[in-house]
Amino acid sequence: MNKPLSEFDPQIVDIMRRDLHRQQNCLTLIPSENYASQAVMQMQSSVLANKYAEGYPGDRYYNGCEFIDLIETLAIERAKRLFGAAHVNVQAHAGTQANMAVYHALLEPGDTILAMKLDHGGHLSHGLPQNFSGRYYNVVPYGVDKESGRINMNGIAALAEKHRPKLIIVGASAYPRWFDFAQWQEIADSVDAYLLADIAHIAGLIAADLHPDPVPYSDFITTTTHKTLRGPRGAIIMCRNEFAEAIDRAVMPGLQGGPFMHTIAAKAVGFKEAMEPAFKAYQKQVVKNAKALAQRLIENEFRLVSGGTDNHLMIVDLTATFEKLSGRQTANHLEDAGIVVNKNTIPFDKRSPVTTSGIRLGTPMVTVRGMKEPEMQLIGDFIGEALRERKSTAVKNRIREKVRELCEQFPIYEDLNLWS
Ligand SMILES: *Cc1c(COP(=O)(O)O)cnc(C)c1O
Repeated sequence: MNKPLSEFDPQIVDIMRRDLHRQQNCLTLIPSENYASQAVMQMQSSVLANKYAEGYPGDRYYNGCEFIDLIETLAIERAKRLFGAAHVNVQAHAGTQANMAVYHALLEPGDTILAMKLDHGGHLSHGLPQNFSGRYYNVVPYGVDKESGRINMNGIAALAEKHRPKLIIVGASAYPRWFDFAQWQEIADSVDAYLLADIAHIAGLIAADLHPDPVPYSDFITTTTHKTLRGPRGAIIMCRNEFAEAIDRAVMPGLQGGPFMHTIAAKAVGFKEAMEPAFKAYQKQVVKNAKALAQRLIENEFRLVSGGTDNHLMIVDLTATFEKLSGRQTANHLEDAGIVVNKNTIPFDKRSPVTTSGIRLGTPMVTVRGMKEPEMQLIGDFIGEALRERKSTAVKNRIREKVRELCEQFPIYEDLNLWS
């Protein structure tokens, strides 16, 4: 028990290290992932993981929570300050659980929700038939317009009027444009629906004032903390004060038992980081890099859904190029070249979510590494060449070597021996 981990369990340490090297040596363009700071990871692996703390600060089912209360209160206060929210629950284990808590607080099985279709960019917790959300609620899906690739607000208003949902969800996992939350509130108000803004992907941009703010217009806001926000894996729920008790009770005892106090402490660290000027500069560069990468991809004859991006991500429609390669094939070719992306459906996709006709790319991770517009141009060209020359293993290997060299100049962490 007293041996160092690497001596006690070299097997697991070796696998972890191999993934560390993969992370270092690949260009990851997955928009839902990020590299949490060393400080965040330090809290995540702390002794706080040992403590049970069912309940909320000052009102626990467990004794010994004196310091745990201080931690959770700090996390709540920082999240409130960061987003300007009235009430925050920091206990949700993940984004899906955060959404589940909102539904659990508000809805009965069979109630109607208006939410974005999965293949148009929605999240599985917004009503996928196989997910609890699609199974227990009556989900009316909305999508984007075929021509523009954008959400048509008149269409949303008409759907809301027709179906009178109890809850409207605005937010997506694969939508490259802004959401105008004021317009969504207007529609929700007109049919007496609650409005939930799921900002999992764009929370970092919102915290840095680079995307319209949902807080004044939404009854509920859920977000993951590990995507653009760059905290630990987890989620938070924000709401107006009138829903505070309902949300807290929906999370515990409604859906969860003990909170992950190590994760909540790491969330607090992440929120503090997000209030630093450097965080705003980082998010600005994320957006600039996304625009630069989108531009270079267009120059390499890719077609982007909606023609570009306003945020940190873009969706490439492959149906017009590269002999209609599927998203799955494309992502695999790029992985051969050391570039990691998501396969992703495009709006009105004829292929399944396993095969797909698109890929999704984002810039949060390459930006953490310090890459800027010139590197985005290089990456756009690597992607173009890797796909044009996809039949040549030699070309893909050559690009992989160039990718590795670029990655070496931009390490993912200052000290890669931290985990040795
Ligand atoms: C990522 C995401 C979530 C939550 O995902 P988890 O994997 O459950 O943390 C929820 N909503 C949207 C829109 C997302 O993109």
